[in-house]
Amino acid sequence: MSKDPYLSLLLFLLIYFLILIIIKSFNLFRKKTSKRFQLLCPGCKENVIKRIKRKNHDMYLNIMTLQLFKFKRYKCTICSWEGLRW
Ligand SMILES: [Zn+2]
Repeated sequence: MSKDPYLSLLLFLLIYFLILIIIKSFNLFRKKTSKRFQLLCPGCKENVIKRIKRKNHDMYLNIMTLQLFKFKRYKCTICSWEGLRW
């Protein structure tokens, strides 16, 4: 590792972008749809999840990921799973 702070920052950004690209290309945290194009719950894998109102910190995640994913908050009505998917 170099002691140059600018080079370290550049390296950090490079790794950061690489992680974003990996998430995007491997469809990580991608919502899964059923045959009827409904969104399936990742918790119980049976029930359909519904869009709920996003929380304040969800907005920061979208900014941090450079609006590449447009994360939305979903909730399962049966197993109480709640999370973000894109
Ligand atoms: Zn569920």
